[in-house]
Amino acid sequence: MHIGIDLDNTVLDATTPHLHYYNIASGLTLTADDVDNFYLYKMYGWNKEEREAIYHLYGRDIHWHSNPLPHAVEVLQQLYRQHRLSIITARPLLFRDVTLEWLAQHGIAYHDIAFVEDKLQQCADSKVDVLIDDGPHYAEQFVQVGRPVILMEQPYNLSVPSHDLLFRATGWADVQKHLTAIAER
Ligand SMILES: [Mg+2]
Repeated sequence: MHIGIDLDNTVLDATTPHLHYYNIASGLTLTADDVDNFYLYKMYGWNKEEREAIYHLYGRDIHWHSNPLPHAVEVLQQLYRQHRLSIITARPLLFRDVTLEWLAQHGIAYHDIAFVEDKLQQCADSKVDVLIDDGPHYAEQFVQVGRPVILMEQPYNLSVPSHDLLFRATGWADVQKHLTAIAER
């Protein structure tokens, strides 16, 4: 299978470093319990331009100081031996270098990587069979056009409606069983 894999809040915990640096920038003290939006910057009352400026200032630190989610590294190493793994991240190219360094530093195995916001187009073009992601909008978009998604559970994606092609994972331990079910379809 050709598997597309998101990074932020799929392979790694992006919430903790974002809150850390966004709290520094804002003077607020938000915690993981406050998270109810995929777009964390909205919890700080910032508009897109304000978010952009803060992300450009702290993005390198945010991405470097992220930790892999439990079992992500081991499961990806196992999957790498049997499947084609494409990392598909919506991070801007500005953070390409820190992203590649971080992946190498944590020993994460993958075949290729794309920095794109339109993940549906990317998956269609590169013939990805299944996307693993936490983004509620990606999950809804993919199942609507008949593409399976493994949705990494986060507080902001619990309201995504159930669908035959939507496979909810509470962590990486669930991924292999979902891949087996998807392959058998
Ligand atoms: Mg993500």
